[in-house]
This record gives sequence, structure tokens and C-alpha cells, in this order.
Amino acid sequence: GNFVPPIRSNGSNVGNMTSRAAGKNDDALDDSTKACLEMLCGPDGELPEKLRNLEPRLIEHVSNEIMDQDPNVRWDDIAGLEHAKKCVMEMVIWPLLRPDIFKGCRSPGKGLLLFGPPGTGKTMIGKAIAGEAKATFFYISSSSLTSKWASVISLALVCDYSLTRFSDIGEGEKLVRALFGVASCRQPAVIFVDEIDSLLSQRKSEGEHESSRRLKTQFLIEMEGFDSGSEQILLIGATNRPQELDEAARRRLTKRLYIPLPSSESRAWIIRNLLEKDGLFKLSEEDINSICKLTEGCYSGSDMKNLVKDASMGPLREALRQGIEITKLQKEDLRPVTLPDFEYALQEVRPSVSLNELGTYEEWNKQFGSLS
Ligand code: ADP
Repeated sequence: GNFVPPIRSNGSNVGNMTSRAAGKNDDALDDSTKACLEMLCGPDGELPEKLRNLEPRLIEHVSNEIMDQDPNVRWDDIAGLEHAKKCVMEMVIWPLLRPDIFKGCRSPGKGLLLFGPPGTGKTMIGKAIAGEAKATFFYISSSSLTSKWASVISLALVCDYSLTRFSDIGEGEKLVRALFGVASCRQPAVIFVDEIDSLLSQRKSEGEHESSRRLKTQFLIEMEGFDSGSEQILLIGATNRPQELDEAARRRLTKRLYIPLPSSESRAWIIRNLLEKDGLFKLSEEDINSICKLTEGCYSGSDMKNLVKDASMGPLREALRQGIEITKLQKEDLRPVTLPDFEYALQEVRPSVSLNELGTYEEWNKQFGSLS
């Protein structure tokens, strides 16, 4: 009943093509959807084959919400992580820039896993890769795929309906297909999947719901599809819980890089860089060393950023305590940020990683990580 005979069109025929293929009336497409589809059309004005069976609203969602044309992060914005940068250069950037050289024996893997504590720069690396390789960046968080399911399931429970009654069933799978479909039309492309563990977690034969199993299968099928082809698509998965990953997923993410907490030099760099940007940097080398010592062992890059933010509020809070009105306050009247501001901020901003957790990452790295 849904069969659509191939029709050759003259010029742009986007509305007809997609809406028919997705079993919809032409009028159902609004202007923004049409505009978005038109941007994906080839020089012949036709929508690429891969997109024709996908729902236009999902293609639009991927293009508007998930695709980021200008990720705006450069290598130089990332403190430290020299090892990860070197690996990524070899495995990702060079092959994306010179596909003619990186083929055959030199063909790179298509899946990269970045694992480590939260807030250590995994997303930044994903964005920097897309920026450096002039690739289109797609960012999706697994929870956004699975939470749709969560809401459908809870609705089903509340209403006491069978899940199969919902037309939303398979929504996550459709979105995954749309994501890979649009990415293949926007090559070179980098698909960054945050919290990939919640999508590709180990099979729990009883606990795992049928729906999430299907979502996972669809994802692995899509990965398989571009892995074997000559497509210039790289999948980057990021996780804080690598031990929860399914073995099949682990195998497909051929390179697995540990993104650890920032070293002392990196923490110093983050402090200096953030304060200098705002013209607030007046700390001495000794002060910086003291802050680095106080944050040794468990402060992530993101914790450091929060620490700087909190410390830079110190001079402002002091001025207000002295009775100066915020509306009358001159920027020039504020004293510089000092070591005591950081010491105070350290009581407010606690590290988000424990020593215990660090041990788990290091163990997993020894067992499954890529050392080179
Ligand atoms: P993750 O993806 O590992 O959870 P993010 O890449 O989202 O962490 O980092 C969160 C924020 O923390 C960044 O926007 C940045 O401000 C800061 N940050 C984390 N790691 C670094 C780093 N290595 N260099 C500079 N800033 C960092």
C-alpha cells in the first residue's frame, strides 16, 4: 500500500518526493521543512536517495537541532591532552583531509570512543575535530533518544494502554536513521554521541526493554553500514561509564582514548586563559602553583572553570559588602582576583570526581584502551 513508483522530476520536487515517500500529504509540509529539505537536495534538485523514506520532520529536527555548522572550538582552546590530540590527528583529521592517501591498509577506523571522568574535554575534542577537519558536526545525547522512550513508557503505564498503540513507537529508531541519513549527505561528517553507554549498554536479558534493544540494534546497523563503505563519516562516542558498554559496541569503536583529569600545567592554563580573556589575570606564579596544588587529583577541566567563575565573584561580593550599590559600581573599582578568592571558592566548588572512580577508569584503560 505504501509503494511509491519512482518518478523523475524536473527541478526541485522536494515536497512531493519526501512527503509521498513518508506516506504524507504534500500540504503537510510547512515552509521551514521545505526550506530545510531543499538545502539537502543535490544539484539535480532531487532529495538524495537515503533521505527519501525518512519523515521530513525528523530530517528537519536533525538539521536544526542536532547539526552544528560551526562548532567553533579549536585545538588551542583545549588544555593538555597531547596524547589524545596526536591520536585524533592521525586517525581522524588527516584521513578526513586526505581520503586519497588513507585508503586500503591505511584506511582509518570509523568509530572512536572517548572515555573518562565528566568535564574533561571530550565534547570539546569532538567539536575541535569537526572544526579542524572542516566537517559537519552532529551532536546527540543518548538520553535525548532514550528519554522519548521513557515518556512514552510512563504514559503507557499511566493510561494502562498497550505500548503498541502508540504511533511514537520506534521514534528513537527513526531519529537514528534520519541522523545517519542527513550525515551521509553532509560529508565529511562527525557524529558525536554523548553518554553513548546509555544507548549501547550491555545487554541485560531480562531488564532490558524491547524498545531500547531495538534502538540499539538500529544504531549498530547504521554504524555497520557506513563502516564498510567509503563514506567520510566518523562516529565519536563519549562516556563516563565505559564499563557499561556492550561488547559489540566496544568492538565497533575501534580506537578508545582515555581522557583523564587535567594535569597541573593544564589546570594552570585553564585558570590563566579564562581570567586573561576577561582582563582579570593578576595572579603571581606562586599563587597559580598554590591553586594547582589545592586542586590536585580530582578537579576536572569543568570544575576548574567553575572554580574560576566563583573566585572571580570574590571582588564583586566584597565591594557589595562594603555598601557600594550594584548600579553605581564602576568596573575599575573592583580589585583583582586573588589567591584568597580561590581558597574561598574551593569550599564552594567541590570536585566532581572521586579517587575511587579514577581507579575504575584506569583499570578499564589498561584492559581496553588504545595506548597509541
Ligand atoms: P566532557 O564532554 O568531557 O564531559 P566538556 O568537553 O563538555 O566535558 O567540557 C566542559 C567544559 O569544561 C568545557 O566547556 C570547558 O570550559 C571546560 N574544559 C574541560 N576540559 C577542558 C580542557 N582540557 N581544556 C579547556 N577547557 C576544558
